[in-house]
This record gives sequence, C-alpha cells and structure tokens, in this order.
Amino acid sequence: MAKKFVRAIFPGSFDPITNGHLDVISRGMKLFDELVIAVGRSPVKNQLFTPEERVEMIAELIRGMPGVSVEPFEGLTVEYAARKKADVILRGLRSLTDVQYEFQLAMTNRAVTGIETIFIMTSEQYGFTSSTLIREVASLGGDLSNLIPKTVHERLKQRLKKNGHGALRSRSESEDTILNT
Ligand code: ADP
Repeated sequence: MAKKFVRAIFPGSFDPITNGHLDVISRGMKLFDELVIAVGRSPVKNQLFTPEERVEMIAELIRGMPGVSVEPFEGLTVEYAARKKADVILRGLRSLTDVQYEFQLAMTNRAVTGIETIFIMTSEQYGFTSSTLIREVASLGGDLSNLIPKTVHERLKQRLKKNGHGALRSRSESEDTILNT
C-alpha cells in the first residue's frame, strides 16, 4: 500500500522559539512529509517579538531541514489548517500539566473540523522550558545557553536592552494559546 503524504502544522506563539520547540520540530520532521511551523499573530496582546521577527528567527534555524517551513498566521488554528490542507496538527508536550489543556484543545479542534492532533513529548532536558520562562530569565540576565539557540539569545538580549527590562510583560502560556486558537 502506498504511503500517504502527510502535511502537519505546528502552531504556537514561539515568542521566542526555544530548544524545546526545536526538539519537537526535529522529531516531527521524521514523521511527516511536510511540517509547517505556524507562528500565531495575536491582534490583542503585547508580544516581545513581532510575528515577522519570530518567523525570521525560526527561518534561520530551520534552514537545511527538509520539508520544514515557517509562516505567520492569524485567526483560528483549525481554519488555518484547512486553508493549508493540513492532515494533522502537531503539538509538543512537556509535562502532565500540559496534557489537560492540550487535550481540551485537541478535542475541541477535532469536534469543530475533524482534524487530529499528534503530540510529541520533548526530551527530558527541555521539559521545563517555556518561552515565558525564557523571557523572565533573560530579563534577569540569566544564562540561557542550553535552552535557546545562540541567535535567539542575541536577539533577546538586544530586545530587552532596547525595551528596558521593566518593559517585559509577563503572561501565561495558556493565554498565548487561547489567543492563537
Ligand atoms: P502556545 O502559545 O500555542 O502554547 P508556544 O510557543 O508556547 O505556543 O508552544 C507551542 C507548542 O510547543 C505547544 O504545543 C507547546 O506545548 C509546545 N512546547 C513549548 N515548549 C516546549 C518544550 N520545551 N518542549 C516541548 N514542547 C514545547
């Protein structure tokens, strides 16, 4: 039987992309023929990097990864998935805490359009890495060399310097997801 061509989208805020996200991407690219990283654009909230900047940072990092691409998107993830003719939505799981919310999201998305969500568990060393935490640690000048790519770290330092550390707004990961789905 011929293997089905599978296109997946990996939606998220990626503000900024972390080694945890990259770990999910490198595992995902082995499972799917095409993997589109979809950077959510929220009209409501104040993000550290613009969607264009986030896309640019990701594009640099996925150069040379076959079948992997990145683009911004607006509105509902399921509608974007339909426009892209995606077969599945890919999401990453870090811990049991992620499971409850992701489960709810996946069930809702399936109920709305029938699209399936596939989860990939991160490597243990990134189980505690989140973009929110990265922004917070960076604002306090912490060492992030094991958690984010060097290029991202440089951009983060520049952005925080420009904003002044106090300008960094803290918000929850689930707030991001709600706004992007
Ligand atoms: P969202 O705001 O949609 O949650 P994120 O950029 O925070 O966007 O996350 C996108 C996806 O990547 C989510 O499925 C999230 O669970 C997953 N993710 C985030 N950090 C990690 C990590 N360290 N390891 C594995 N998956 C992760």
